[in-house]
Amino acid sequence: MEKLNYHYQDAWRYTTTATCQSPIDVVADKLVDGPAMAIDWSGLTISPLLKKEQVIGDQFFCHGKLVIDGQTVELVRFHIHDGFEHLWDGQSGAAELHLVFKRADGGTLVLAVFLEEDAEAGPLFAPILAGQQAQADLLTFLPAKKESILTYKGTLTTPPLKKDVDWLLLKERLGISPVDVAAFAQAYPDNYRKVQPLGNRLVVRHQITSHP
Ligand SMILES: [Zn+2]
Repeated sequence: MEKLNYHYQDAWRYTTTATCQSPIDVVADKLVDGPAMAIDWSGLTISPLLKKEQVIGDQFFCHGKLVIDGQTVELVRFHIHDGFEHLWDGQSGAAELHLVFKRADGGTLVLAVFLEEDAEAGPLFAPILAGQQAQADLLTFLPAKKESILTYKGTLTTPPLKKDVDWLLLKERLGISPVDVAAFAQAYPDNYRKVQPLGNRLVVRHQITSHP
């Protein structure tokens, strides 16, 4: 299957100069403090995994839910970018995990988890990429400490660059094994979209108040 070519991303169809796109560079000095956010993580647990090869890259279909300020969002799939898509004050990192949820109003919410290499961590994603695991405990994809989250409105980062996406960027990072980092680089080399102009959008920082 021919995969999306990230070398020619400026020529992707649906690319626009409108300032509504993702990813973005998160600039610490420009964050706006918002209300605390109550997140119930307990709906992310052991799920069957179904790997599907797609033009936009491998998607891992799975089940789960989050309850965010009383609103339930249903997990549909996840995928991984080799290298961060969202930058933090211009800085990249090992990999970015996107958990893609369906909102009750039919819109999309993506929870981004930022992965950094940790020599102490055991392999977590490599066996999944290799299709050797029929299920996974999705809570292990998140850092143990979840204290702060950023939100903004954007798009999906692969064509058709769907709009009206609620982005949640978890500030605390998950350490992953060098084996996982190598597996991402081999399977999805540099499959990240470049950062897009923020325009007049706000990136809001929330403390996370409730989690089991
Ligand atoms: Zn993604």
